[in-house]
Amino acid sequence: MVSNPKQGRLAIHRKSERRVQWGTVFIIGFIHLAALLAFDSSYFSKSGLILAVILYFTAGMLGVTLCFHRLLTHRSFLTYKWVEYFLTFCGVLALQSGPMQWVAQHRIHHKEADDEPDPHSPLVTFMWAHMGWLFVTTPGCQEYEEYCRFAKDLDRDPVQRFFDTYFFQVWLAFAGLVYLAGELYGGLGASWVVWGVLVRQVILWHATWFVNSATHMWGYRNYDTDEESTNSWWVALVSFGEGWHNNHHADQRSAAHGQRWFEIDITYWLIRLMGFVGLAWKINEPSRRVVARRIDIMVDEDALLLADERAREGVAAKLQTQTDPTVPVEVPQMLSAAEAYEAAEKAAREAKESAETALRYAAEALKHRQKGAVEKADQAVKDLLEKGKDLGMAAVEQAKYAAAQASEFSAQASRFAAEAKERASESARHFAEQSRAIAQEAGDVASSAAEEIAEAFKGIGRPVITSSI
Ligand SMILES: [Zn+2]
Ligand SMILES: [Zn+2]
Repeated sequence: MVSNPKQGRLAIHRKSERRVQWGTVFIIGFIHLAALLAFDSSYFSKSGLILAVILYFTAGMLGVTLCFHRLLTHRSFLTYKWVEYFLTFCGVLALQSGPMQWVAQHRIHHKEADDEPDPHSPLVTFMWAHMGWLFVTTPGCQEYEEYCRFAKDLDRDPVQRFFDTYFFQVWLAFAGLVYLAGELYGGLGASWVVWGVLVRQVILWHATWFVNSATHMWGYRNYDTDEESTNSWWVALVSFGEGWHNNHHADQRSAAHGQRWFEIDITYWLIRLMGFVGLAWKINEPSRRVVARRIDIMVDEDALLLADERAREGVAAKLQTQTDPTVPVEVPQMLSAAEAYEAAEKAAREAKESAETALRYAAEALKHRQKGAVEKADQAVKDLLEKGKDLGMAAVEQAKYAAAQASEFSAQASRFAAEAKERASESARHFAEQSRAIAQEAGDVASSAAEEIAEAFKGIGRPVITSSI
């Protein structure tokens, strides 16, 4: 990780107008200090630790990520009012200002990210983006009259206004409740407060703050957006998928922040689960237009424009791209040729499974195509096909990656064979040969799945772009 060379480029916006927020300084400072009681083992209890984990998920995942960010700020899905209120209550437990101010600050961040007046750009300094900005007032977004302009939708709702006004009191009352419950449970009030409230609060703060600091500094980019946002696996891990922040800046309304198969986004899974049981609807999928601009699948703007043109003219276009430049194929070093062979076999199996998935989507598309649905311009079928194509292409991508892994492992096996001493050389060579063959086969399967997909979805929406590994 290297620090961003552009750091220090941005000055603190309207510095002279900012006043120190002593209340915030005191509360954040006090909670950090008080959380140090966790180092005193007499405050530890197993139930306190379990409570901390549960409340970390409740306040962090349900409250901040799912509710404040994806639901309230971006409306990336819809739900019942009572669900929204319950989730907002969870968000208030994260003690990150009231929902309206949170939403307003975040909307300003998206509007002017890494530029003035982004409330928390690391182009000032890392610490400014991480927590420094919280300790002073934010001009234009501090008082209710100022920030409600950026959260008019929430301002119409008296329940949201209540949570916005009394968020600290609600947080405090809940902490009191935790104490009482701990006492009733077995005289563990202090332990439950130290772990379930203080320690959990400090860890959750920093996890959320890393989204503002780290994912505008370190990581890789899928999209060439006009700010510095990045994707970071470790931020995604501690913040329930929020670390795929470059994807999010590129497509802010999408409920899914993770887009590629390895970009795990458990908040999105939860939204899908809510959709499944009828608690969420109108879940925004990643926009196809945006995905088409992803660095790893597009060749370049000109080629894409040309392909769009051809698609409009009804000529099927098929482009060749380089392999994924943002994700190096990384595999662990195996200890022997036999292990490398086993790993190659496993990766090849995964490649084939993904390729099979891709082929299923292709077959589905062909079925509709044979019925002449595309020519009839049946919108419902077209939508279905568009979706199938995205999923099919994702499966192809997955297959290719696994195939590339298989060939990496086979290279390892070959190296072992080359270095093998007389005694073991025969079996090492055998493993090397075998793993080369299966890696080759996996690659072929992945490529032919890519071709099938390209053929099946020809002329549907944007062109199918294939790459060869
Ligand atoms: Zn951002
Ligand atoms: Zn956002």
